[in-house]
Amino acid sequence: MADTNNFDEGVIKFNTNDFKRQPMKSSHQLSQLNDIRNRLFRMNLIGEYPIEKVGFGNLSIRYAYPTSQNLNSFIISGTQTGHIAQLGNQDYTYVIDYNFEKNSVAVRGPVQASSESLTHGAIYQCHSDIQAVIHVHSQAIWQGMLDDNLPHTSARIPYGTPEMAEAVQTVINGQSSGVLAMAGHEDGVITFAETVEHAFTLCEQLYRRYI
Ligand SMILES: [Zn+2]
Repeated sequence: MADTNNFDEGVIKFNTNDFKRQPMKSSHQLSQLNDIRNRLFRMNLIGEYPIEKVGFGNLSIRYAYPTSQNLNSFIISGTQTGHIAQLGNQDYTYVIDYNFEKNSVAVRGPVQASSESLTHGAIYQCHSDIQAVIHVHSQAIWQGMLDDNLPHTSARIPYGTPEMAEAVQTVINGQSSGVLAMAGHEDGVITFAETVEHAFTLCEQLYRRYI
């Protein structure tokens, strides 16, 4: 982190009232997601800032939750799990609904959802073929992407806000896979794709290019 003045990684900004605790069921989607997550941890694209002791990075996979009216529900890693080397089922949760105007997220699972859940939801809304969203942190990748003018959201927009949700939709512009940097969320980079493996490959490509 070059600048810690606006350092608020991990701080939940959405309304957390609609959270019901329940166990996380095993599923093919979840095991796929966890496999990729643990690889990202080993690459330090998900992890913890050593000085601030704050975890970073999260990822999600589209999941049709049985009772959800929202067609774009998903499984996401829980808040404050970035520092854990190996996650288990209990570290993931279902986001069954969300509302940008109300800045609200409905969560069912063993843990509260990642602080960046609204951004993930906004991306699933962009295209029904988007199956996975990965959010990593890397100073080198983030700076490199901005220097190279790769797709990015404005520096004025902080993470975890309804404004970010709108901004990522504008940048994604209907694509079903791609990468973007969040200029207003230091070190913050997102990849999204039709499969979680492809979203991971996009991360690997950025890693090889900039690290
Ligand atoms: Zn972040």
